[in-house]
Amino acid sequence: MTLKKKKKETPHNFATSVLNYLNRSCTRLFCSPPTEEEKPRPSMLRHLTSKIKATGPITVAEYMREVLTNPVTGYYVRNNMLGPEGDFITSPEISQIFGELIGVWIISEWMGAGQPKQLKLVELGPGKGSLASDILRVFSQLRPVLGKASVSLHLVEVSPTLSRLQAQILTGNCSQEADAEDEPVYRRGETAAGLPVSWYRRLADVPTGFSIFYAHEFFDALPIHKFQRTEKGWREVMVDIDPEKPDQLRFVVAPSPTPASSVLIQADERRSHVEVCAEGGVIIHQIAQRIAGDGGAALIADYGHNGTKMDTFRGFKDHQLHDVLSSPGSADLTADVDFNYLRRIAGRDVACVGPISQRTFLKNMGIDSRMQVLLRNCSDMGDRFHFFSLLQHSRLARPKTVQGLNMDKKSPAPLPVAGFTELSFS
Ligand code: SAH
Repeated sequence: MTLKKKKKETPHNFATSVLNYLNRSCTRLFCSPPTEEEKPRPSMLRHLTSKIKATGPITVAEYMREVLTNPVTGYYVRNNMLGPEGDFITSPEISQIFGELIGVWIISEWMGAGQPKQLKLVELGPGKGSLASDILRVFSQLRPVLGKASVSLHLVEVSPTLSRLQAQILTGNCSQEADAEDEPVYRRGETAAGLPVSWYRRLADVPTGFSIFYAHEFFDALPIHKFQRTEKGWREVMVDIDPEKPDQLRFVVAPSPTPASSVLIQADERRSHVEVCAEGGVIIHQIAQRIAGDGGAALIADYGHNGTKMDTFRGFKDHQLHDVLSSPGSADLTADVDFNYLRRIAGRDVACVGPISQRTFLKNMGIDSRMQVLLRNCSDMGDRFHFFSLLQHSRLARPKTVQGLNMDKKSPAPLPVAGFTELSFS
């Protein structure tokens, strides 16, 4: 590690110098996770049809929750959905540079917050653990910059199978499952550099304190409710058994209001069809409250829009679009994130920046030369993939004296947030 902590470092020129450093080093150490034998699973379709026969049509949110995260038959219980052999591929799986950039962003925000002594990295939905692994590599290379800060990694992961893959890539054999099934921390481990890693099923179980939260393609996997505007008012879209084909499911519109249709639609809503991810809203609310109370920031990267799109619910299998209702449990289900909704739920206690397109974010991070593969992938993603951030209001205020940072006191501009404005390489 040759990068020295400079005295007159700002988060922005810090990010620039780190990128110069990264340009000269780093390769991801590929470590193939152990392949688990596929266990025979009871059919998800059978499970859903018995449920519907017993209690009537289910909401799309319940359908999505069962299909993706049912502890026995859920899609994420499988271990081979990510990557070229699986159903979809994500940016952290395409290139290590993606994770390195997020690592730089995190350190830059930690500096912007005055370099607190404790830094919790909280990742939601870590997949194979590649993003965390790339971030931690940047952290170990920049150890002198982090000084004596004590860093810990906290992973919110619902899938026991994926958590084992994450443990393998992040800690090798240095992790252990909790003895009791209901422990909030269901696995603990340590990286080779001695950094503690803990696994939780829910964000609510992660200890509080200054934290940088990040989530890549997590919010789009959370259950959405779907609503249709009708002559009688808003009605919830439900999943039912097709009366003509008992082994097939179909969408129906609830004849009367449901609890969700009564509370989740905004009075001034103009669209004719709306998707609302209430679970994502709950998580954003928790993150916003933690940032407002304890300090920190959040970076959310996902397919999404600003409250303009209508029907985005779709499935992916073998890298192809897949009908959301056919062979449930065999394909990934996803819906674009409504950033407008997240912003409204985050409320006034935090500042929100973005969403901006992934292409712009990555370009602003100043890594065109290192990013050919990812940038090519970005054009395929069009305008759908975005970065969105939650910050303490003080982070965007006119700079005063921030502890540990030596800034130009005459500057009227707030400190830029890396990625959301262009880095200057002067
Ligand atoms: N971030 C990774 C993986 C995205 S796939 C990447 O970009 O490559 C979605 C991830 O979220 C998986 O790890 C999945 O198991 C996890 N997940 C999905 N729903 C979840 C929930 N309700 N709570 C916690 N984790 C969840």
